[in-house]
Amino acid sequence: MPTCRACGDRAEQFLDLGRQPLSDAFLRPEEVATEFTYDLTVTCCQGCGMVQLGSEVPRERMFHSEYPFRTASSHRMTQHFRAVADRLVAHSSTADPFVVEVGCNDGTMLRRLAETGVRHLGVDASADAVRDATAAGVQAQCAFFELETARRIAAEHGRADVVYAANTMCHIPYLDSVLAGAAALLTDDGVLVFEDPSWEDVFRLASFDQIYDEHFYLFSATSVSALALRHGFRLVDVEHLDVHGGELRYTLARSGAREPGPAPAAQVARERALGLTDPDVLAGFAERVAAKRTALLDLLRSTRAQGRSVAGYAATAKSATVLNYCGIGPDLIPCVYDTTPEKQGRLTPGTHIPVLPFPDSPDDLPDTFVLFAWNHTAEVLDKESAFRADGGRWIRYVPDVEEV
Ligand SMILES: [Zn+2]
Repeated sequence: MPTCRACGDRAEQFLDLGRQPLSDAFLRPEEVATEFTYDLTVTCCQGCGMVQLGSEVPRERMFHSEYPFRTASSHRMTQHFRAVADRLVAHSSTADPFVVEVGCNDGTMLRRLAETGVRHLGVDASADAVRDATAAGVQAQCAFFELETARRIAAEHGRADVVYAANTMCHIPYLDSVLAGAAALLTDDGVLVFEDPSWEDVFRLASFDQIYDEHFYLFSATSVSALALRHGFRLVDVEHLDVHGGELRYTLARSGAREPGPAPAAQVARERALGLTDPDVLAGFAERVAAKRTALLDLLRSTRAQGRSVAGYAATAKSATVLNYCGIGPDLIPCVYDTTPEKQGRLTPGTHIPVLPFPDSPDDLPDTFVLFAWNHTAEVLDKESAFRADGGRWIRYVPDVEEV
């Protein structure tokens, strides 16, 4: 029986997404023979309600120097993080706040602080990302954030008023060490703020493509409240964010340091009403996921049977789960178009669909696109309005499998 990586209690498996590759491991053709795969299962802790993967991929396999994702590649996320930076400074009551970002990536958020002269430090496990951040004028260092790292930062720079992490905490199986690090680094009145894909949103949308190697945890206010309490913190605020397919931003303060607002209790009550830790409800979720697989395969096969050509739109990390779980290879989707030069000429992980640059001529576009970047549906459909005007169709699978 698996145990909860967060609290050690019993964790029940409720979803099996089969053998999966690393979601960001776009392959050169010669790498196919040695491709790494693992069993992607999902469990829910009976004690603290934490939803998590059933097995852990070694972190060095995922967050290495060549980790390809860059925050600044998305205009929408750049705007999001500029607003975050302003909010984080507002959190602090001190005149000269010190903000530490865990998983700072290319420094998109911290750049805003650097521009306004706010003391800051980014920590990231990817040497390349840290180099990009430093080049952008951001203070950053290459490390995994854990207790020893936090103690070193506190000794070198003083204690932090805010420790912030976006789309990073859910990547880290060893949360105990991160929480202990935050406790060692923060001032008495300091806050730990983090935002990650929310289990409620994944549950509501059956967006099972949010489940992949890098997303080890799918947090909820329920599980984060329990996590906070075990480490001398309290969840004092939670807010919903309409980014990355639906996220929650959690604000933790040391127990007794700040009064919780009304939002955490309200969110916990919503999660309880939905039954987000109830074994019967979780079994129902697994059935909805299986039904989506059937519906998506049926739609792709009927589209091909009508003689329509099909291509994938955007070689996203999260498309790996859908393609591999459904068993969709080049026979159903012959290629995936993506603007990222590093991915072009490579093969999608596990299913080995060629990734190509978008064709120069609209005449060479397929009849139907599968929208892997469904969380950017409005932006993409707006950008590609001519494609639809010319009779092009979109297939998406979140919230439902459908042609749009
Ligand atoms: Zn637990």
